[in-house]
Amino acid sequence: MTDCLFCKIVRGEIPSKKAYEDDEVLVFHDIHPIAPVHLLLIPKAHVASLGECTAEHQSLLGKMLLMAPKLALEHGLDNGFRTMINTGPGGGQEVFHLHLHVFGGGDRIPKL
Ligand code: AMP
Ligand code: ZN
Repeated sequence: MTDCLFCKIVRGEIPSKKAYEDDEVLVFHDIHPIAPVHLLLIPKAHVASLGECTAEHQSLLGKMLLMAPKLALEHGLDNGFRTMINTGPGGGQEVFHLHLHVFGGGDRIPKL
């Protein structure tokens, strides 16, 4: 997707503070962190949201979820962290390329 912000980050056309990268997944720091540690895990291949995922994304989604605790620990979140996937305008999604937020640290995270 040429116009997608996160596809541009994947292609290196927009800079990001990378935390991890492999063939399928890129992890970078959110530009407007809502906690001392705030990572975004994205698939390199464009998919607009969790709502557009199909059975073919099953292993990718599992991989991303299992990466979250490892990345959290690597970034010092040894007391826990929060994961969040906003889906669609009604779910507060602003960037329409699937991403998993992983954040925490500092004071107690607010109760949902
Ligand atoms: P969402 O509301 O779930 O779509 O979240 C989009 C997230 O992307 C927000 O937390 C933004 O701060 C973050 N974001 C937007 N542009 C960038 C960027 N260029 N680099 C890193 N994070 C970004
Ligand atoms: Zn994209």
